[in-house]
Parts: sequence; structure tokens; C-alpha cells
Amino acid sequence: MATVPLYIERVRRLVESFDKYMEPSAQTWAAQHAVGLARERPVAYFCAEFGVHHSLPLYSGGLGILAGDHLKSASDLGLPLVAVGLLYHHGYFRQRLNREGWQEESYRQIDVGELPLQLVRREDGTPVYIELEMRGRVVRVEAWRVDVGRVPLYLLDTNVEENHEIDRLITGHLYGGDRETRCVQEMVLGIGGARLLRHLRIEPHVFHLNEGHSAFLTLELARELTVKGIAFEDAARTVRARCAFTTHTPVAAGHDEFASSLIEKCFGESYRQSLGLSHEEFLNLGRVTAGDETELFGLTPLALRMCRSSNGVSRKHGEVSRELWNKMWPGRQVREVPISSVTNGVHAPTWVAPLIRSIYEKHAGANWTELLHDAKAWAAAVASIPDEELWKAKRLLKGRLIAFVRERLYDARLRQGESVEFAESARQMFDPEALTIGFARRVAAYKRWDLILTDLERLYRLILDDERPVQFVFAGKAHPQDQGAKLILQQLALWELDPRVMRRAVFLQDYDQEVARQLVQSVDVWLNVPRRPLEASGTSGEKVALNGGLNLSVLDGWWLEGCDGSNGWAVGNVAASGEAENEDARDAESLYHVLEIEVVPTFYERDAEGMPRRWVAMMKHAIETLAPAFNSDRMVRDYAQKIYLAG
Ligand SMILES: *Cc1c(COP(=O)(O)O)cnc(C)c1O
Repeated sequence: MATVPLYIERVRRLVESFDKYMEPSAQTWAAQHAVGLARERPVAYFCAEFGVHHSLPLYSGGLGILAGDHLKSASDLGLPLVAVGLLYHHGYFRQRLNREGWQEESYRQIDVGELPLQLVRREDGTPVYIELEMRGRVVRVEAWRVDVGRVPLYLLDTNVEENHEIDRLITGHLYGGDRETRCVQEMVLGIGGARLLRHLRIEPHVFHLNEGHSAFLTLELARELTVKGIAFEDAARTVRARCAFTTHTPVAAGHDEFASSLIEKCFGESYRQSLGLSHEEFLNLGRVTAGDETELFGLTPLALRMCRSSNGVSRKHGEVSRELWNKMWPGRQVREVPISSVTNGVHAPTWVAPLIRSIYEKHAGANWTELLHDAKAWAAAVASIPDEELWKAKRLLKGRLIAFVRERLYDARLRQGESVEFAESARQMFDPEALTIGFARRVAAYKRWDLILTDLERLYRLILDDERPVQFVFAGKAHPQDQGAKLILQQLALWELDPRVMRRAVFLQDYDQEVARQLVQSVDVWLNVPRRPLEASGTSGEKVALNGGLNLSVLDGWWLEGCDGSNGWAVGNVAASGEAENEDARDAESLYHVLEIEVVPTFYERDAEGMPRRWVAMMKHAIETLAPAFNSDRMVRDYAQKIYLAG
């Protein structure tokens, strides 16, 4: 490669534009609008996962990708921010389905030498390390640094020779271990992270706990004060003034809780004593109701209690969270519960396809991402894009997706031990002209993967229509310990072997950031039908909108804010009502109805030039209305102004 002139030229241009991007004198948004955040007093952003690039598999899904996008926007905006996470040596699992459609997991050791990771060292070259005591043993923790543009991301690592064999595995797998592993992982993240920053002499203006996983951080900040003789209550007040918390889901399984015996085992006596707390007082920090011994130690109650600000990730999720956690403030009305919201967004330059990006550059200018800040100017630019240009780009992208789907399926079949002939038939499947619907997300019951399968005959009529066919691409992982989710996946995988649908429906294995990019950039329609109101925000549909795809989703999370009736479609009504079963039936009916009456006819309606004018008008309207509101620059600006600087 290094001798191909075209390649060398591309690398040279990339280096040049990166150097320009990194110039210290570059005019940034933060230099003008967030002067309160100095380089010396950055935001410290803590998260258990980071999805920066698919080569660094330190994420499982939405939370990690969101954190990665947060860092990228902070970098673009020049916002002083340092991030702290964990270096999982085996990352998150890779997914394969066997011939029976059952999910199998495997892990690959990540090769730190191959990745842009630097071991954090002292001036004398020896590794910087901190120590913490867990399970009665002292554990040594080292740190790696990844630079995400201007933002340093520190990744803590216990895989150090000096450590006990078991402790070396603490940062082994993301969500792969038992409760105890989880607890010590979170101690490394929160307590270890705080100690690392102190060691590096970084004095954050504010600590942002992105999800409760890092909530032990607040205990460590308090301990810094109590060991100086300050009473815990006073220390807690000081800590509260410096910490902000974001909760990411109303689903119970998303809130980590630990048995008190486990907390005792992991923390030991001395940590609690250094806080000046009795056993009971310590446990109460993680309970909704003080003294309730039936409660586990929850990281969300701890974070809500120890942070000055808490927020959900969409307006609806803010509302749902206020209701859910009203019990922490029993004297208050729901609306008085101090949980606000900042709606999630996605990093436009990461998620926009190069083909679409060049259209934006042409019509909105080289600084098109900045134009996103100005909804009016953006709308004018989008209006000036010729229909033909946008439609042609979308068709090219769809062609690329289909080639990708065929190749992946071909490989998967060979790997499953299928015949070469059967594997080869994958190369004929899918039609580049057909309406293509994407459905990719974690496999969990509340996401209702099987909603589309409710009425198979009706679904077959859509898929098998000769004139106006519909094809589906599915992808997503089930949590390794979630047998129910694996059954859902298997049901879908087996359904796709039905000869009637085989050419027009596919499950792509091993959903990750790269598969996500292929899908969100290329599909015509993105389907999302979780049970309301359990989708805190959702971000994949935002990525689709940035690329001119249309959302077909229940009115929950971000889509409740985004859908205006002509930039995509709603499944079901606003109110989630009553019993799950009735609601599933009603939503399934609505889904088929909208597909039959609106989506399919609009897509296949062509004018004399063969252009789907109404469809392209919707694409443009989606780009115009959704891109400015649901990108992560807007999100990070909101965090800066409403949360980081509001303390
Ligand atoms: C964007 C993304 C997600 C989150 O999407 P949801 O809308 O929350 O389902 C999950 N996984 C990957 C790989 C993504 O890129």
C-alpha cells in the first residue's frame, strides 16, 4: 500500500487536515461560549464503555457509542474534557449464530501494540500506576491513553504482572463477568479513575458520571476530604457541588445493584472507616430509603444522592425518570423531582456517509457541521439540494449495502458448514431497487423484535409483492446471559430460512459500529418499535436521519421530539396505555397499516422521470428538521451550558 501514489496522497492530505484541526490557535465554539471551562479545569467524563471506533471494542451498544460521540464533539467544539474508562482486554463479545440460529460468543484479545494506545508513563519512563484495595488485596492499576482528537481518554487496566491472577482479570471483559467482577470493575472505574486524575494533577471543574457505573467516584471524592478530618456530611456537600449525573434507561436491569455482603467483601472495613461512616450509614448511601434492609446497594440512588445535577437523555425520559425516582424525594410532586433532560445526539462527521457528506459540503459549504447550529441556514442549504443528486447517492449507498450483505452472508454460511452452493446463493439475494428496511439494536424483550412477525401472512404480502417488494436487514446481539433474548434471535434466524423470505430478509451477524455505519447510511427506512416508554432516547434513528433515511418508529425517546408528521412515520399513538399484550397487538396493527398505506406506496410512486418525488421530499425534510436537533455538537453544547457551567 505504502507505494501506491494515490494512497500516499490520501494519507498526506489526511495528515494535513488533521494537523490543521489540532492547531492550538484554532477558533472553537468553546473558546467563545464556554470560557468558564479552562484547560486546567476540564470536565472529567466517566463512562464504563466508549465506542470511538470499531477497532477498539470497548463498547456494547448505545451507551458506549454515545460516549464516543460525546468525546468527538467535545473535541470539535474545543471543550476542555478528559475522559476515563476501562481497558477491557477482551472487549465485548463477537457474535456468531450456529446453524440452529443459536447465538455463540467469542472473545478476541485486543492487541495493545496494534492500537493507538499509549501507556501513561512518568518522566523516567516507568508506568504511572495507582493502587486500590479490593477484596482484601491491593490492586495495582495502570492507565493507557487514547487521544480522540483534542480529548484524552484514559483507560484503566488491572492486567499488571504484580496483581493476583483474579485481579488481573478485572478489566478482562465488558459485561462478561459475575456480580462481584462487576462491582470491582466499577470500583476501578470510579475510585481508580478519581485517583488517576489526582495523580496526573488534573483538577476537574465538574465530574460527569455518564450512567451510574462510575458512581463510586463520589465516595472517593468524599474520602479525599474526610481523611483530612472533614465530616462526611460536609464532604458530601462539596462533592455534590462538583458532580453531575446522567441516567440512561428506565429499564431495571440497567441499574446496577449489589448485595450488602458483596459491597462489604469488595470494599472491606477500612474504606468505610476512612469515610467516617458506620456500616449502616454506608449502605444507606445506595438505598432509596435509609434503613430499608431489603434494598440492595444501588448505584443510581448513590449517584442521584451525591450529584448536584441529574438528567435523562430525552424530554420523555426526563419525565419517566422523575416518576421512577420520585421515591427518593417522597415529599415532592413528580414535577419537582430534580431530574432534567438533555436529548442525545450523534456525531455527524462519524455517521454521515462520505457520499452524503460531499453533497452537504457542496450545498452547505465545507463547514457544514457548523451550519447545523443554524437551523434556518441549514434548511435553506438542504432545500437547494437537487432531488436527483440525493436520490442517486442513496441508490449508490444501497448498492454498496447489498454487496456488503451478500458478502457477509456468504462468509457466514461457509463458516456454519453450509454447502458452497447454498453459500453462493447469498450472492443473488436482495434487490437494489427494492424498499429496504433496517432493524438493528440489542436483542431484548422490550425492544419487540418479533412485533413485525405478529401476522406472518400480512408480512409475506409485503415482502413478496412482485411490483413493490420490501426487504429487511436485521442485526443485533443478545446479552450473553439473556437466554430469552437468544430465543428471540433464534426465532428470527429460523424464520429467515423460510424459502419464501430467504432472498428478502437477512440477519447480519456481529452488529458493531462498522455494521451500524453500513446500515444507517444506506437503508431507506429504519424501524424501531420498543415498548413505550422504555426507550430512553435511541440514537440509531438519528444516524439514519442524517443520511436521509426515514424513521418508522414508536413515539418514544428522541423520536417523540423529532417526528413532525412529514419527516418519517409514527407507529402507534403517543400514550402508552395499559396492558402490554393489547398494546403489542395495537402497535403491530399500526405498523402493518403504515407500511401498507404510506411507506410502500410513497416509495414506489414515481414521476415521468422515474423519480420518487414525494419520497425524496420526505428525505430532505428529515435532513432539514432532524440533523440540527439530534447531532452531538448540539448535545455537548447543551451539556456545557445547562449542566457543566451551571454549577
Ligand atoms: C448507534 C448504535 C447503537 C444505539 O442504537 P439504539 O438506537 O439505541 O438502538 C447501538 N449499537 C451500535 C453499534 C450503534 O452504532
